[in-house]
Amino acid sequence: MRIHDISIPIHPAMIVWPGQPGVATRYLSQISAGDRSTVTHLSLSVHTGTHMDAPCHFVAGQEGIDQLDLKTLVGPALVVDATHAAELSAEVFDVLAIPAHTERLIVRTTNSQLWDDPAHDAFAEAYVGVTPSGAQWLVDHGVKLIGVDYLSVAPYDDLVVPHQILLGAKVVIVEGLNVQAITPGVYELVCLPLKIVGSDGSPVRAILIERGE
Ligand SMILES: [Zn+2]
Repeated sequence: MRIHDISIPIHPAMIVWPGQPGVATRYLSQISAGDRSTVTHLSLSVHTGTHMDAPCHFVAGQEGIDQLDLKTLVGPALVVDATHAAELSAEVFDVLAIPAHTERLIVRTTNSQLWDDPAHDAFAEAYVGVTPSGAQWLVDHGVKLIGVDYLSVAPYDDLVVPHQILLGAKVVIVEGLNVQAITPGVYELVCLPLKIVGSDGSPVRAILIERGE
């Protein structure tokens, strides 16, 4: 069995959504300062790094992250390559040869290259995102979980409608994945949010499991 970690590291210098406070840590106690134990206080947006959006993120009154059906968050997932695409529209999904009944879909785009690029030291507004037609395509084809490799599923200049279409149809959105090293194919996905009551999102640790013969 091989485990591929497709999560990005969380640390104070990491790239976060424009205008939002970044990750901050401080010690509540520290062994090196003479305390019995080391305890860190962590402050971060629930949409930091590799994370999951809950329906209430864009649809008022809808479920929080603690209400998601765990069956959706664990199971077979198809990783497809779309590094040729500047956006993820219905036309792009149509030609990706995604089999019917694909419930969990992870799209590898040029975004994934950014995570390992030292020159990527600020939020990249020109990332590849799912357009409204792409979001509708996913809903119409029964996709229950969509994973993308930058900090939002939707393009920076068109954030609202793709989120509303997906979250309104209870499609789980996982954002901020790094699938640069992942060969397209089917893996077993595990990505679980923290059980934060009523939250509009949560960081997740996302892994793809590859089982040998
Ligand atoms: Zn989010």
